[in-house]
Amino acid sequence: MNINQVKAASIITKSKLPDADYVINPYIGCNHGCVYCYAEFMSRFTGHGNEKWGDYMDIKDGYPIPRLEKFNGKSILFGSATDPYNPLEKKYQKTRELLKVFAESRVKVRVEILTKSALVKRDLDLLTRIPNIRVGISLSTMNAEFARIIERHAPSPQERIDTMRVLHEAGIPVYAFISPIFPFFSDWKAVVSGTEKYADEICFENLNLRGGYKKRVLDIIRDKYPEKQGDFERIYTDKKTFHDFWQNEANVIKKYMKGKKYKIYFFHEEIKKA
Ligand code: SF4
Repeated sequence: MNINQVKAASIITKSKLPDADYVINPYIGCNHGCVYCYAEFMSRFTGHGNEKWGDYMDIKDGYPIPRLEKFNGKSILFGSATDPYNPLEKKYQKTRELLKVFAESRVKVRVEILTKSALVKRDLDLLTRIPNIRVGISLSTMNAEFARIIERHAPSPQERIDTMRVLHEAGIPVYAFISPIFPFFSDWKAVVSGTEKYADEICFENLNLRGGYKKRVLDIIRDKYPEKQGDFERIYTDKKTFHDFWQNEANVIKKYMKGKKYKIYFFHEEIKKA
């Protein structure tokens, strides 16, 4: 693992995401190393062009402590391009340092944390002091074997559900982020059953394949699941098949989730608010 400290001019940056005005990514890179991670494109812009995603980490440092007054009424997401509780956070505590700033401020900011990691439980003392916070735990599947293949260093699905339980029992609003849904693999109904008792909301996002990781994901399906290769590839090589597949999947989800609080983010848009 190539680990560096890098100087960052600021730590809060403007976001183009639908549900976040600003984002905080205390690290560049993510050693959970998920095969489908769209944040891999960061490698080109941060001097890590030929390094494998998951094998390098930059720890941001030297930025001024953020002045939260100018973010009054805004939403800030921790973890749009890294997991803020990736394994390095245990030692470097960059996320914890920043959460302290929010916990000690009276400014009304909506804080959201998206993670796969049980390490978030370490910061319960701070999370319970931030009034407008919620934590999303992302899961693609309940199948631990498949999860190990697609998210090689991330905690198991069961560990993530246990984390949701602990946060929920501590009074922290939690949502399950069922993402990415892999066609023919992600047992999202089982994820709903496993998480709904701890989740205030369930969000769904489909697998999008773009850039360098498209080939990597298709290679994994070909090598490990050749019987699914044809159907899987069709979805990611033909636009109409892609659209029809996910529109149908969205309809199935809407029917299944009727009466429950949920959101669907397919095609990188929100299709329907609950
Ligand atoms: S945990 Fe998130 S940021 Fe990290 S590699 Fe996986 S998808 Fe990317």
